Amino acid sequence: MNQFWFASFFALFFKTIKEESLMIYTQISQLVGKTPLIELPLAAPKQSHIFAKLEMFNPGGSIKDRLGKYLLEQAFEKQLINAETTIIEPTAGNTGIGLALAAGQVGLKTILVVPEKFSQEKQLLMKALGAQIVHTPSQAGIVGAIKRAQELAEKLPNSYVPMQFDNPANPETYYQTLAPEIWQEFQANHLKLAGFVAGAGSGGTFVGAARYFKEQLPNIKTAIVEPEGSILNGGPEHPHRIEGIGVEFIPPFLRRQEVDRIFTISDQQAFKWVKSLAKDFGIFAGSSSGAALAASWQLAEELPPQSNIVTVFPDSSERYLSQQIYN
Ligand code: PMP
Repeated sequence: MNQFWFASFFALFFKTIKEESLMIYTQISQLVGKTPLIELPLAAPKQSHIFAKLEMFNPGGSIKDRLGKYLLEQAFEKQLINAETTIIEPTAGNTGIGLALAAGQVGLKTILVVPEKFSQEKQLLMKALGAQIVHTPSQAGIVGAIKRAQELAEKLPNSYVPMQFDNPANPETYYQTLAPEIWQEFQANHLKLAGFVAGAGSGGTFVGAARYFKEQLPNIKTAIVEPEGSILNGGPEHPHRIEGIGVEFIPPFLRRQEVDRIFTISDQQAFKWVKSLAKDFGIFAGSSSGAALAASWQLAEELPPQSNIVTVFPDSSERYLSQQIYN
């Protein structure tokens, strides 16, 4: 494909849709974002209200569809990619799915470097979207995958690594999309926001959204949720079953002033909520969502009565069924 057609294709595929009410869509990427916000029908501490942004409603099934789309848009605008570029990215899965979804639509090849431990379902979805998977050993963690992706890119001419772990376009994605959506949903319903909770893997979701909310509302309490085995609260690093969150190094875009609390949640606590969300409310949420809800509950205990807390449910538990979380 020549550059002219590639540019025209790109503009068409990623066109943002403004009038969506009776819209007939022409590309799946137009459906990224504008996910539903739900007030969870549960009796939270101190009569507080917990709201969750249901990111499994994105076409690729996770919050990272937003990132895949934005990373490619940015790379295209900065002329870092062309019609023949191969996209290479280290990923725990969802960013890979988001990137493969966006890349496939404009005819770009994708190579995803994934530590073996991550869910089979996510890896099958990446393949279904046309991506090639390169495995790295689970013990080498995400750091091992980052190294391997860089090595591959050095060897492969005309390749591009978006590198979610230090690309400012990552938090920017959530500053530009997720947070303003939540803000407008609260404004439209005359609700006051008191707390924001999000998990950190790359840290992009939390950092981008927390920055936006602090600008609107300096008194908002922001909290990161991490699994036991992640290092943000100073605990020892060890494996955990909660997937998609947890860090092996401090995300470079994380600034102390944007983080009021860090909650460390056990696998057991997260899975308890995953089961309850499905059974009691019909919400198939992944384990990072379960952890986010556990942390929101803890934040509610610390905030004044009747506070409104918003959190993010990044994906669905359907992509983790093989891990037997419902057993
Ligand atoms: N939950 C899930 C299921 C994820 O895949 C991710 C991304 N790895 C996150 C949460 C965390 O998002 P972020 O990378 O923006 O911190």
